[in-house]
Amino acid sequence: MAEETKKPILGGEFLIKEVNANDVFIPEEFNEEQLMIAQSCHDFTYNKVHPNIDEIDNHNTKLLKSLLQEAGELGLLGISVPEKYNGFGQSFVTSMRATEEMSKGFSFSVAITAHTGIGTLPILYYGTEEQKQKYVTKLATGENIGAYCLTEPNAGSDANSGKTKAKLTEDGKHYIIDGQKMWITNGGIADLYIVFAKIDDDKNLSAFIVERSANGITVNAEEEKMGIKGSSTTQIFFNGTKIPAENLLGERNGGFKIALYVLNIGRIKLAGGAIGASKGVIDYSVNYANERKQFKTLISSFGAIKYKLAQQAILTFASESATYRASQNIEDVIKAHIADGMDEGKAYLEGMREFAIEAAMMKVYGSEALDYVVDEGVQIHGGMGYSAETKVETAYRDARINRIFEGTNEINRLLSVEMLLRKAFSGELDLLGPAKAVANELLDIPDFGTGAEGYYEEKHKYIKNFKKVILLVSGAALQKFGAKLADEQELIMNAADILMETYVAESMILRVEKLEGMKGEEAVALYKDMIDVFVYDAAAKINKLGNDGINSFATGDEQTGMLMGIKRFTKVASVNVMHARRRIADKIIEENKYPF
Ligand SMILES: Cc1cc2nc3c(=O)[nH]c(=O)nc-3n(C[C@H](O)[C@H](O)[C@H](O)COP(=O)(O)OP(=O)(O)OC[C@H]3O[C@@H](n4cnc5c(N)ncnc54)[C@H](O)[C@@H]3O)c2cc1C
Repeated sequence: MAEETKKPILGGEFLIKEVNANDVFIPEEFNEEQLMIAQSCHDFTYNKVHPNIDEIDNHNTKLLKSLLQEAGELGLLGISVPEKYNGFGQSFVTSMRATEEMSKGFSFSVAITAHTGIGTLPILYYGTEEQKQKYVTKLATGENIGAYCLTEPNAGSDANSGKTKAKLTEDGKHYIIDGQKMWITNGGIADLYIVFAKIDDDKNLSAFIVERSANGITVNAEEEKMGIKGSSTTQIFFNGTKIPAENLLGERNGGFKIALYVLNIGRIKLAGGAIGASKGVIDYSVNYANERKQFKTLISSFGAIKYKLAQQAILTFASESATYRASQNIEDVIKAHIADGMDEGKAYLEGMREFAIEAAMMKVYGSEALDYVVDEGVQIHGGMGYSAETKVETAYRDARINRIFEGTNEINRLLSVEMLLRKAFSGELDLLGPAKAVANELLDIPDFGTGAEGYYEEKHKYIKNFKKVILLVSGAALQKFGAKLADEQELIMNAADILMETYVAESMILRVEKLEGMKGEEAVALYKDMIDVFVYDAAAKINKLGNDGINSFATGDEQTGMLMGIKRFTKVASVNVMHARRRIADKIIEENKYPF
């Protein structure tokens, strides 16, 4: 990776800015140290977690905690924690790569990512020096396990509406906390809780560090869940729990901001985890398909199975390309702020704030790609996929939660578009100019091009057109509904999906373009097959999403003009997707694993 700090691209700016392939980070550029860290995480997952996963899933929380502590002793809990707090001070992208590898560990991965993410980062980024010295040093080594207590029975997506209360004692030395939290990951094993509560009648939440040894804490029995059964999930009651006043984390009323900023990190980390889990399931799928015979034939030689293997790989590769692209963008912002003298913790939060749109998109995209991968993984296994004896059955159940926590996929879809529009209104991003230009273009005679472009030139032209669909639909919708657009959620969901397909497609193209520059044309032939299939499918999806959006509010000539525009902007060359998928699948089958 380049060490110099370049002028970072802004969050959401991909929509209006052409990006050079040389300016994106691609996973093929991981350096030796990053790969070594990934290998340590991989070894821990396969050697320590996998042999114990049935026992962990049987609610053996003692074993779960001891494995977390073992991971801590090996330094795996402190990868992104600065050295002065007992960590290794690795970069954001490295921590993403570690998360990817750890996430092949089924329910254990939820425990470890909750601990290293939402259980540790609030103190690391918002704590005072004393709080960091006292708590982060122990979280980084596994001496303490952390949990994040935001959700309540009546405050889920609407997290700021929680009823948990904190009251300062008359002598000003303590807070007394009363309330109920629910769905708390690591709830049963944590030594330290980050608890969100409202002080007196405050409008917003504040955050507190609560030690498990404090009085008045009741931890309910483990929830019986659909999947990730081995991760500890409990309700927690705080009944007159007395904590030192200095355990207020950040500012009074500042808790909701902490909750949201930390969730931004959790979202992109979840996308990284989904990549790892997907790769693991593709391995199980092809291993099985290469062994199972029906009609005297290995099922991996059936076209129907090849389709599934190829599609699993394409979605995983796509998600990976976009997630690491965004991760490096985040890291570039962090480095630029640090170079300008900003405190490291603040710089991290600024990096995450800047790319909150991409983090929300990748959370949705990664979790839904994983759901496709596990679903077809079960299908490839036939009846065995339905048996609790197979890993793919566990993976199927475990995957489902990813669309629910760290903000549901509905909330993240809404957020991605809302944040983009907010940036446009605040003047941070000039979306209005490009939206007007697209509206004007509808009146022009179409430019059908010469058809003589090179491979990447043609693909970038498609992406440019997909972006025009987003600008067209959102620009026209804003004109129609103004501030009331927020009430038209179906339309916002459409726009979010177009945004995601476009960002992911562009990320794949940029990755392969850069890779071809590094390794030559022959080395990327199958990668181009993946692009061809993905872009071809994306064009059809965007066409439908765009049409659905326009049809929901436009009529008459205006509607006809915009529908024609969408048809023009989603026109792509025909692709023999069947043969392209077969070539991709043949490589997976030959290597008997995810090979890209
Ligand atoms: C296994 C597990 C582990 C968890 N771990 C933690 C943890 O460690 N800490 C923690 O604090 N929380 C945790 N959670 C809670 C989780 O973050 C919430 O479940 C999630 O935010 C959704 O809240 P809810 O369950 O109340 O659903 P609701 O908010 O009631 O949502 C129900 C449905 O309505 C939709 N919806 C809600 N509001 C809107 C809206 N404005 N517009 C459109 N649709 C909407 C949702 O998308 C969803 O489809 C965990 C949950 C589970 C299941």
